[in-house]
Amino acid sequence: MIPVTSFAGKRVAVFGLGGSGLASARALATGGADVVGFDDNAASLAKAAQAGIATADLRQVDWSKISALLLAPGVPLTHPAPHWSAGLARNAGVEVIGDIELYCRERRKLAPYSPFVAITGTNGKSTTTALIHHLLISAGRSADLGGNIGTAVLTLAPPRADHAHVIECSSYQIDLAPSIDPRVGILINVSADHLDRHGTLEHYAGVKERLVAGVPPDGAAIVSVDDEWCEAAADRAVASGKNVVRISVRRRLSDGIYVENGEIMRAVGGDAQPVARLGGIGSLRGLHNAQNAACATAAALALGLDAAAIQIGLRSFPGLAHRMEQVGRKGAVLFVNDSKATNADSSAQALGCFSDIFWIAGGKPKTGGIASLAGFFPRIRKVYLIGEAANEFAGTLDGKVAYEMVGTLDLAVEASARDAEASALKEPVVVLLSPACASFDQYRNFEVRGDRFRELVLALPGIAPVKQ
Ligand code: ADP
Repeated sequence: MIPVTSFAGKRVAVFGLGGSGLASARALATGGADVVGFDDNAASLAKAAQAGIATADLRQVDWSKISALLLAPGVPLTHPAPHWSAGLARNAGVEVIGDIELYCRERRKLAPYSPFVAITGTNGKSTTTALIHHLLISAGRSADLGGNIGTAVLTLAPPRADHAHVIECSSYQIDLAPSIDPRVGILINVSADHLDRHGTLEHYAGVKERLVAGVPPDGAAIVSVDDEWCEAAADRAVASGKNVVRISVRRRLSDGIYVENGEIMRAVGGDAQPVARLGGIGSLRGLHNAQNAACATAAALALGLDAAAIQIGLRSFPGLAHRMEQVGRKGAVLFVNDSKATNADSSAQALGCFSDIFWIAGGKPKTGGIASLAGFFPRIRKVYLIGEAANEFAGTLDGKVAYEMVGTLDLAVEASARDAEASALKEPVVVLLSPACASFDQYRNFEVRGDRFRELVLALPGIAPVKQ
């Protein structure tokens, strides 16, 4: 744990006592703060009380005695409307911050030059975070990963110069971290997502940009410039004197890291040298993963790894569950779990990797649906529609691709396995769960949805599990 000392002797309110909120409350209390926690959920409240955290209804407390409100990242700060606790704090002139902000303040006191690597982007955050961590560990470095990927940042060991913290940051977390200042900051991409929580794309992109804008002049601001928002962010970072490393998987760069024919190249003043090859690495299939791998390579180079170590690390990367995870094979049919693809952009990445696809899609729809995926329709042999989005998606597919309204994942696996097998298409025929939707209409989260898919696939007669 990282004890938070910056509020020692002060009263701090914590709203949202799930994993990271509880970890923050503990770290604040251990550092000497007088913590009062609250949550709308009675079970979380009881758990916090059991863990020795003082709790009280924050509507009833004297806000003039409170120094800060620590908000869990799942709680709305601005859109669609500020949570009532944030409103009370603002009215009382109390700052509203999150756990990454506490981490940054503590790090500046303990080890301001420690290798703090922060990663954000609309898509690819977890993969890039896990890959950087893996590259460091496989090169014999000491490193931990945390943040949005699952481990609350304040539960990690305190920052120190010889130990890297590789931290995935959601836009919500950046919004709550006004002084975020990673030594290596990475902005992978920006596209429309989570606009319900950020209002406009301008605001959302602006929040993400703050992660690289906070990189100190002697750090590295790594920005993939394949979309216009990130391109503009990179230009602004250069103008403000940062050491910017541009990344592209779409064009050659005269300075930066780019990917061409599966090769990661490093260019300096127009002179390009190969760093590593991505060919044959199953866990990094597709152009989207090339973007993640190029960003991770840039981070590894900034942290002093050499090309040989990076190549070894890339080759041994096992990949993450629910992201184009190869689950099993039955004859020519490969079953792929891409449950993490909760928007059309993400599903586009998976659809682009295969050519004969039996596609399971649907769930809780996002704005725009799957209209943007029309270019992939010729690769799709049939679609199996599940969840709330089924009718809307059927409207988009009508007359263009065969589809079946199966409703549930259980029926989708059964029907798609049957059709894929009967298709007599040549290897690889792919049954792909890549929903282009959130899971909340039928599952607690995308992990539970992906786990169910894996379970159903592995129960098919004659299936051979794929070892990761
Ligand atoms: P995040 O943590 O940002 O949600 P993940 O690494 O978990 O991202 O990947 C989630 C999904 O997003 C993947 O299954 C894939 O479909 C898609 N994806 C991953 N990397 C990228 C990328 N660089 N660009 C676009 N889509 C991506």
